[in-house]
Amino acid sequence: MFKKFITVAVLSFSAIASANAAINQTKGDFEDKFRQLDESLPTPNVYRNAAGEPGHKYWQQQVDYKIKAKLNEEKRRIEASQTITYHNNSPDTLKYLWMQLDQNKFRNDSLSAKTTTFGGIGNRGPATASASSGKAAQLSLDALRRQQFTEDNVLGYDIQSVTDKSGNKLKYTIVGTNMRIDLPSYLKPGKKITFNLDYAFNIVEEDAVSARSGYEHFPDDEREGGNDIFLLAQWYPRLHAYTDYEAWTNKEFIGRGEFTLEFGNYDVELTVPADHIVSSTGALQNPKSVLTSTQRKRLEQAEDADRIVFVVTAEEALENEKEGTDKLKTWKFSAKNVRDFAWASSRKFMWDARGHQQGGDDQPLVMAMSFYPKEGGDLWKKYSTEAIIQTLEVYSRFSFDYPYPVAQSVNGPVGGMEYPMITFNGPRTELQKDGSRTYSQAEKRFLIGVVIHEIGHIYFPMVVNSDERQWTWMDEGLNSFLDGVAGREWDPTIPWGVEPRDIVDYMKSSTQVPIMTQSDSVLRLGPNAYTKPAAALNILRETILGRELFDFAFKEYAQRWKYKRPTPSDFFRTMEEASGVDLDWFWRGWFYSTDHVDISLDSIYKLRLDTLDPDIDFDRLRQEELDKPMSLTDERNKAEGRELWVDRFSDITDFYDENDRFTVTNKERNKYQKFLSKLKPWEKATLERAVAEDKNYYVLEFSNHGGLVMPIILELTFADGTTEDQYIPAEIWRRTPKAVSKMIITDKDKELVSVTVDPRWETADVDVSNNHYPRKIIPSRIEAYKTKKRTGKVYRDIMQDIKTEAKSYDKDAAEDEDSN
Ligand SMILES: [Zn+2]
Repeated sequence: MFKKFITVAVLSFSAIASANAAINQTKGDFEDKFRQLDESLPTPNVYRNAAGEPGHKYWQQQVDYKIKAKLNEEKRRIEASQTITYHNNSPDTLKYLWMQLDQNKFRNDSLSAKTTTFGGIGNRGPATASASSGKAAQLSLDALRRQQFTEDNVLGYDIQSVTDKSGNKLKYTIVGTNMRIDLPSYLKPGKKITFNLDYAFNIVEEDAVSARSGYEHFPDDEREGGNDIFLLAQWYPRLHAYTDYEAWTNKEFIGRGEFTLEFGNYDVELTVPADHIVSSTGALQNPKSVLTSTQRKRLEQAEDADRIVFVVTAEEALENEKEGTDKLKTWKFSAKNVRDFAWASSRKFMWDARGHQQGGDDQPLVMAMSFYPKEGGDLWKKYSTEAIIQTLEVYSRFSFDYPYPVAQSVNGPVGGMEYPMITFNGPRTELQKDGSRTYSQAEKRFLIGVVIHEIGHIYFPMVVNSDERQWTWMDEGLNSFLDGVAGREWDPTIPWGVEPRDIVDYMKSSTQVPIMTQSDSVLRLGPNAYTKPAAALNILRETILGRELFDFAFKEYAQRWKYKRPTPSDFFRTMEEASGVDLDWFWRGWFYSTDHVDISLDSIYKLRLDTLDPDIDFDRLRQEELDKPMSLTDERNKAEGRELWVDRFSDITDFYDENDRFTVTNKERNKYQKFLSKLKPWEKATLERAVAEDKNYYVLEFSNHGGLVMPIILELTFADGTTEDQYIPAEIWRRTPKAVSKMIITDKDKELVSVTVDPRWETADVDVSNNHYPRKIIPSRIEAYKTKKRTGKVYRDIMQDIKTEAKSYDKDAAEDEDSN
């Protein structure tokens, strides 16, 4: 009988053991999610140390540019000559230099043009044909326009001469978007070389080719022939970076992977039509010769103004765009320690400015300025410069003081693009029939969002100079994370798209590669290189490290790598070193894998501690037996009034009819006493206390369906209506990454009624339906629909249609008819 009791007791535990089968991982099946990342990262060296800091022999090249460029407005062409001084700070001797000729990407024979695929992943628009269904393939008018534009125009650089300081020709070889210049003598470590380059190119029409720069034409302007806005970026031949980790970073420019560049000083003279307003990287050197005294006075007023001051007003810009001029003006700009140089020019620009007094010794005053045509209208007046200043405030809190004299936002055809001190941003107002200009809420949100984002890029990667050609996430991910911080401090009702919940659909999708993938090969760049790393950093800050540790480590990274060139390992190492928290599992899961988060709370057991006293425990077992539902047969027999045989013949009963299998005898009592007598004093006290307290022992079983290990965040709800939060660090998964159990002990009167995993949706768990125990009914929607009748489109009634009268349409009439 006692034996039988034992069996019963073991049974109650075996339920748990079998449900936990997933824990018993088989040989070869186990994956160590906490394996140290140093096995995958490059070995630390004297240039980049194991702490993620620039090493004691860190170096980087310096390239200084003196450029004289002329904008030929009529031909939409840049003609320029430049003098480059290349400082070899590397320990290597260089025989040649590699330059980037980005404009060559627009040539019909470029690698980009030749490898553009039709349809499929990464291609905008066209769906491939289906011969079997008889459906036509699709080619957008945009794609056709692009094809026609590159066919009709001579694009790419016209390199006119490459000479040394004394004017002797240097040998050069063009390889697609790259150019190798052979040096007349080896450039030794610590030495510099100066050479000259004359070139020209035809500017692309941005709307036709969707580039990062180009011109936009406004045919409806009052001036005959209309006006243009010119955005000039990737416009001068730039040196490729030469680095300690990859030597020449001369991977061809295909269009997506952006740039790897060197810091240097720029003196640039831009000759443009005299009625143009120029916005540019750098500080204006000759305001007296390009600005009126009124404009200069307004600029000065703007320095400590509370609200924006117009340097060129809307009325002045409108007046300006009505005429043209044959005269030219030369604007001179100087920029120190920048990695690139861009500018914009148009007679359509109004110009507002407001000084941002950030204090500090390096750059106490920053001029926040915006340049936009009437098409930008009130939207730009209200929000552009304001958003610049908010960005500077928030980003500096997370990194360092903004290091340049100006921060600018220019409206043009580019949706959003960043360069040192200058950004191009696309949102506009819409001209209505009554002559007013309005904008949608989406366009307003787009403007605020894009200005914060692009100005944010002046910190990452324009100052923290990561390698964009290799790693889009290092600038876009970090910057999206911070623009989300700034954005939610501006207005949290705007969807910033960086919350953990914003990435779940992508993370469970199958079209995915790890974040650690070279830019041009990434599938679905937006979620891969922007949202996922941004959401990951949000989680790191709000959930895993907490704000204090995260902010300290992140700032440390920004300051260590200010004006330097970090790689992913430098970021990973710095965040761990400075926070003091091992994050290898986090980088491995979020950056090196395509696993997603899906933690399921499968079951909860409530266990009661056996007292081991047979007089108590046997009673409890008897009660357990009685609590089970009665056999259906027995119940129906009873209902039918069927008398039991043993009741009918009382003489056949015996001892066992009076004493059930839970009857306690002295044999068990003696065994219990013997057991107690063998206990050490502390063992006895422990048992006695536990029995007296009679706590609730809950075992929670979790399984990991997504593969990504994460902290388990619990909200416990008790019968008395109270709740309690528990945070179980991710390390709980270290031995059994597929399933874990956790015991939670509560006081006797603190009965657990339900548990929710990740109640605030902070871990990007892709399936929250398995986060509740007991499970919840999932609210969703169902829509009734009307079956569509087959329309007669395929079967034209020509007999009727032939009676249709011919009409002519202008745009408004066509729109009116469509809306009717
Ligand atoms: Zn960006």
